[in-house]
Amino acid sequence: MSARIIDGKAVAATLRAQVAARVAALPFQPGLAVILVGDDPASAVYVRSKDRAAREAGIAARTIRLPANTTEAALLDHVRRLNVDPDVDGILVQLPLPPQIRAQAVIEAIDPAKDVDGFHPVNAGRLINGRPGLVPCTPAGALKLLESADIRLTGARALVIGRSAIVGRPVAALLLAADATVTIAHSRTRDLPAECRRADVLIAAIGRPAFVQGDWIQPGATIIDVGINRLPDGRLVGDVDYAACLDRAGAITPVPGGVGPMTIACLMENTLLAAVARRG
Ligand code: NAP
Repeated sequence: MSARIIDGKAVAATLRAQVAARVAALPFQPGLAVILVGDDPASAVYVRSKDRAAREAGIAARTIRLPANTTEAALLDHVRRLNVDPDVDGILVQLPLPPQIRAQAVIEAIDPAKDVDGFHPVNAGRLINGRPGLVPCTPAGALKLLESADIRLTGARALVIGRSAIVGRPVAALLLAADATVTIAHSRTRDLPAECRRADVLIAAIGRPAFVQGDWIQPGATIIDVGINRLPDGRLVGDVDYAACLDRAGAITPVPGGVGPMTIACLMENTLLAAVARRG
């Protein structure tokens, strides 16, 4: 058996086109402001992609580039100005931040109504309570991929490997909201292969190349691989041993071309949703 490949690039392109169509029909132009502090090359690439995707969706994109030695107070000042700027519907501060700046302080300074990354404790609390709010982009994208592949979540055993605030926890909350029976595994989990073998749906968000082995997979299970790991030879691989899992899984996301493209598409959707909620 060879698994069905869930094509994140195609699903993301469809979502971006849908967002663009909805933006075009609005009587106003949604605005997204992205703040980039320092010159981390990976962050610069992400910010450029976000800017391009926003423009393609008809969203007014603004990138604020600040030097690596920016103080926390100066960054908070920028955030507060964007909070009260009527043209800005979404604010995103690109992580990671330089060591002199506390990321949590910055996240908490963003107006929850403009928190398009969905990291503010107000939005995290809404998500955990099953209330509407802005949902983090990568977890939202993972769920949309499951939906696109018609994977039934009601009553399914879902295993999330990873418990970060950015991926693992919110993805688990979304699976629970979709009526899955959810287990969250992490570095202290006693028998991870056994947990994996019970899972109908497995979401890997670990940050370790090809960590999940083929013989850990329940035959026919669905695998969403959130991991993005660069190998010494430059190749990008996920957290799952893709080739080995391909023979066992029922459906699987590739890396690259799986969850990755969904993150930016969901950011565009969040900006649209924030704009509509704020401006009515
Ligand atoms: P993170 O904050 O480092 O969290 C990793 C999680 O994996 C932690 O909860 C950790 O457990 C767990 N873990 C580590 N080693 C483990 C092991 N041996 N067995 C079981 N669990 C283990 O990482 P993250 O930010 O969630 O990101 C995870 C991956 O997703 C990374 O590859 C990242 O690049 C990728 N990612 C992709 C996107 C995207 O597609 N756009 C977005 C965000 C992240 P403990 O809590 O016990 O330490």
